[in-house]
Amino acid sequence: MTAERHSHAELRFAYGTMGSGKSTMALQIYHNLASAGMRGMLWTQLDRVDGRVSSRLGVSADAYRVEEGLNLYAAGKAYADRNGQLDFMVCDEAQFYSAAQIDQLARVVDELDADVYCFGLLRDFRGFLFPGTARLLEMADSCDEVAVESRCWCGRKATHNARLVDGVQVYEGDLMVVDDPSQTPNSTYELRCRRHWISGMSAPGTVPKVAKPKTVESSAAKPEPSSADIAPVEPLGEPSSSGTAV
Ligand SMILES: [Zn+2]
Repeated sequence: MTAERHSHAELRFAYGTMGSGKSTMALQIYHNLASAGMRGMLWTQLDRVDGRVSSRLGVSADAYRVEEGLNLYAAGKAYADRNGQLDFMVCDEAQFYSAAQIDQLARVVDELDADVYCFGLLRDFRGFLFPGTARLLEMADSCDEVAVESRCWCGRKATHNARLVDGVQVYEGDLMVVDDPSQTPNSTYELRCRRHWISGMSAPGTVPKVAKPKTVESSAAKPEPSSADIAPVEPLGEPSSSGTAV
């Protein structure tokens, strides 16, 4: 009779908005553990550079690619058989993994005794949890927000990723489009607080704006004024001489 081993391995999930430094953290953890002689695998999906995890700070490393239908447990087991042991996995862009793949990561922890560090986004641009994220929230031993304070243009904490097409926020479209300028020429992403994600409002002075908010009623916002509507502009800072009450 063999005593059951008490593993301290854990499935951990760190989430944050775009630009919160998730990939940088993933690379840092991978580098630290590998430097300490531990045997591990770095995984990603749909990163900006094919087959690598790269961060906005310019660091990158070779990574295995999580293809659709890939069995992550089998991949980890094969690595352990080849190298004697698998100590850890670092999984970037984990929001795009399937629920089945997240369950396989839980088996990597429980059966291979390897730590698994997952990094990903919480919500898609439509405001819903990604499938991989939802499963991680259900299955992980710990879930923590990446402690980088991202801000909306208004100064509030950014909780949502807004997708903009030609500068206008959209709420529908292909989920798998990432913030790769070469893949999505007209799409950009912007971090927003919840209320400005809901209203679709860009920072004042940004054009074009979404026309939805009803607060825009000044004459300057009228579409295509005819020439008769255009009055001479009075110099700024001068008191009005025409007797207009304010
Ligand atoms: Zn805001």
